[in-house]
Amino acid sequence: MRKPVIAGNWKMHKTVSNALGFVKELKEIQLPSDVETVLCAPFLALPAMVEETRETGIGIGAQNAHYEEQGAFTGEISMPMLQEVGVSYVIIGHSERRTYYNETDESVNKKTKAAHAHGFTPIVCVGEVLEEREKGQTGEVVTSQVKAAFQGLSSQEMKKTIIAYEPVWAIGTGKASTAQDAEEVCSLIRKTVAGLFDQSVADEVRIQYGGSVKPENIASFMEQPDIDGALVGGASLKPDSFAALVKAA
Ligand code: 13P
Repeated sequence: MRKPVIAGNWKMHKTVSNALGFVKELKEIQLPSDVETVLCAPFLALPAMVEETRETGIGIGAQNAHYEEQGAFTGEISMPMLQEVGVSYVIIGHSERRTYYNETDESVNKKTKAAHAHGFTPIVCVGEVLEEREKGQTGEVVTSQVKAAFQGLSSQEMKKTIIAYEPVWAIGTGKASTAQDAEEVCSLIRKTVAGLFDQSVADEVRIQYGGSVKPENIASFMEQPDIDGALVGGASLKPDSFAALVKAA
C-alpha cells in the first residue's frame, strides 16, 4: 500500500510571517494522519516552518537545491544547508526551473542523487509541454525524462523518491489534465521505473499528478490506480483549501 502524499508548492509566494501565519492556521485544522502532508516553501521561510511544524506530521520541503555541497555558486543553496535546518523534502526539476533556469535532465539527475545522499525525499518533476502533447510525443518525452532523472540511483533510493507528473500546459492554467489522461502517463511512468529497476520498486514508488489540482477535482485523480497524490501550486496557498485537498486524498 502506497501512502498518499499531498504536497503544496508555494513557488515564490509568502514572506516568513505569511508562511508562519499559514502554518498556525493549518495546525488548527484536523488533518488525516494516513495522508503524508508536505509544504514546499521559499528558502527563507523554511527554518521557522520546521520549528512551527514539529510534532504535527506536516513535512517541510524546499523547492530546489544545488547538487554541489558548497562552492562558488552565487545565490544558490546546498543540500547540507537545508539538512541543518531540518527540511525533509526537496522538489527537483520543476518545469519552471527547467524553463527559466536552464535545468536539464543531467542537473535533475545530479540533484536527485545529492538529495538522497543527504537523506531527503526528492519530489522529481517530469512532464510534457503543449506542443509535445499535440504532436503525440507525451509518452516519449516523459519516459526519457524519467530514465535520465533516475540513472544510477539504487533501488532503495528509487523507492523513496516521489515522482510528480506535471503536464506543463496544465500548470497554473486552470486546465487540469483529465484524470484518465493523467493515469495513462502515470501508469507509463510506473512501467518505466519497473524497466529501470524492478516491479517491486515500481510498486512502491509514489507518483503524484500536478497541474491545476483543486479541492473540486482532486478526488478524480486520487481514484486512479497509479496516482498516489498531488503536487499543488495555487490551491495550496490558503490553509482551508490546502486542508481540503489533504482531506480528500
Ligand atoms: P498549479 O496547481 O497552480 O497549477 O501549479 C502546479 C505546480 O506547478 C505545482 O508544482
